[in-house]
Amino acid sequence: MAKKNNGPAELLSLEIMYDLDDTLIPNCIKYHIPAWRCGLIISKRLGLASPYPVDVLTMQQREQMAMVERNGFTIDVFPKSWVRTYERLCRESHVPISRAVSRRLFFIAAHFADGPYWTFPGVKTALKYLKSQGHSQHLITAGAKSLQLRKISEAGLEATFDSVNVTPRDKKEIMRRIAGKHRRRCLMVGDSFRSDILPAKELGILTVHVPSKTWGYAAAQVEPDYVLQSVRDLPGLVERLVREGKLG
Ligand SMILES: [Mg+2]
Repeated sequence: MAKKNNGPAELLSLEIMYDLDDTLIPNCIKYHIPAWRCGLIISKRLGLASPYPVDVLTMQQREQMAMVERNGFTIDVFPKSWVRTYERLCRESHVPISRAVSRRLFFIAAHFADGPYWTFPGVKTALKYLKSQGHSQHLITAGAKSLQLRKISEAGLEATFDSVNVTPRDKKEIMRRIAGKHRRRCLMVGDSFRSDILPAKELGILTVHVPSKTWGYAAAQVEPDYVLQSVRDLPGLVERLVREGKLG
């Protein structure tokens, strides 16, 4: 809950909520090389029946999104989506499915979860500074709990947050609980229009979008209140918003 504001505007205590992947740490880049490798294996295996590469990627992304919609961000979504893409293309092309290829695709795609993980430049300094100013900081991340906690640990962010919240997919209820009745003292900072910005705006929480090159699932028709190229610039924005009375 928001702490009592006893001092001048500059000492206002906020509840700042952060997304993790591609907001505080690089993440989507981890999918790129496994994706190219899996696509290459499929093209080689299908031979003359191999579709145009972008069509393979589009099919895989569709599979992955459908699985996230059904079951949330489980750790096997990405590897399984490649296996399903391969097996579907085989069936459509009347090519026999090789279980060895399916296993190899799963194994290669699973490398998306390999470490190490680290923060974007300036993130730790910004978070440390905001903490020193008395603000509460909360992490709200969607994904498999074991993986998300490992990312936080490897990135050295364990001691940074007042609460760490891992959800299979949707963040809105966690935002609602953290914000309580003090939504004007809250900020949500994230790169996903769909998972971060939209639910926060629906709750009346001010939003800060940090653009990333993440996948299509993150798209949504919503305007963030503010855009920052990096969380590094957040302390300056927070100070300005407090000064202008937009928070509190
Ligand atoms: Mg993100």
